Amino acid sequence: MEPLKTSFYQFTLKELQELFATYGLPPSGPSLLYNWHYKKRMKQPCETDLAKMSRSFVYENFDFELPKIQTVHESQDKTVKFLFELRDQQKIETVLIPFNKKYTICLSSQVGCAMKCSFCFTGTQGLKRNLTTEEIIGQFLEAQRWLTENRPNDDKILNVVFMGQGEPLHNFDAVKKACEIFLSQHGLSLAPHKITISTAGYIPGLERWKNEMPKVNIAVSLHSVIKEKRDKLIPINQRYPIEDVVKFAEQIPQGKTRFVTYEYLLIDGFNDSAEDAHLTGAFLESKNAYVSLIPFNPFPGTEYQRPSIAKVEAFKLILDQYKVPTLVRKTKGDEILAACGQLNSKYGLEKN
Ligand code: SAH
Repeated sequence: MEPLKTSFYQFTLKELQELFATYGLPPSGPSLLYNWHYKKRMKQPCETDLAKMSRSFVYENFDFELPKIQTVHESQDKTVKFLFELRDQQKIETVLIPFNKKYTICLSSQVGCAMKCSFCFTGTQGLKRNLTTEEIIGQFLEAQRWLTENRPNDDKILNVVFMGQGEPLHNFDAVKKACEIFLSQHGLSLAPHKITISTAGYIPGLERWKNEMPKVNIAVSLHSVIKEKRDKLIPINQRYPIEDVVKFAEQIPQGKTRFVTYEYLLIDGFNDSAEDAHLTGAFLESKNAYVSLIPFNPFPGTEYQRPSIAKVEAFKLILDQYKVPTLVRKTKGDEILAACGQLNSKYGLEKN
């Protein structure tokens, strides 16, 4: 049987350079390949530029397959949700969120998720498996291709957020490599502050972050500073309490203008009271924090509800008293179940 080829998209530039050196191939190959596939966005193997021996090495050893877009949903507000099919027929979702004729891409890092947060649709799926680096990079490349074909006048993806399905720090190695490819000058050339990794507070990943992760932004899902409430919302809080999570998050090297983003999901009658707001304000006031308030996005079968706009505003006003900068995240794409926490590829498949 022919040995299985390896995906080109799983190699960081450094790994590719090492591979070329090991096989005695010309050292110019890796950056030429990166340029061809990431800058010129070519899908087919490179025919030009490469030395002949590098070309045959590439043909024999690499494949260039990417996750396949199975369905595309576009909402009125121009949000786009993709359902991707992976090699083993597993499904994941990716969302393009528009702003000023540009996009933020919300990437998945796992098929399903092991965290079982009680407010999150993905958690109801359980964890199927980690995504590989090429499956993470592939979401970006294929969404970019779709945009260029379908919205050629506004096809720029400016930000990458790991806020789709999965807990990115639970799949540290593949997420890290994907970030390196996003950041590479020869690769997708994103600036570090354009990438944000959101975590439920998975401390083993935060421990590695400081020394290993490239300098990208961190977001922590806070949702409550009251232990009983956070335990119910994010079960791993019992093992990795928020106080410890914050200590680790704050140790992550940050540039001058950077801070840790805290996401606070507002659930009607559960964590949206004035008392909740005061405790949150007091918890964050001494920290280099920025709060993103997210009104809960409902999904089929959930016990929770979204609070009124007035309640969200009242919560924000209390945080203002503590001088904690706060932004209310505008809900986009909820009519196609593409908003935060509404991603569940199983459901997506049944619905499509
Ligand atoms: N596992 C990571 C990343 C995925 S969730 C994390 O927990 O941060 C990305 C963001 O969406 C998190 O802040 C999460 O709390 C939020 N979210 C999840 N379910 C949601 C829902 N139903 N409504 C609104 N936001 C939700």
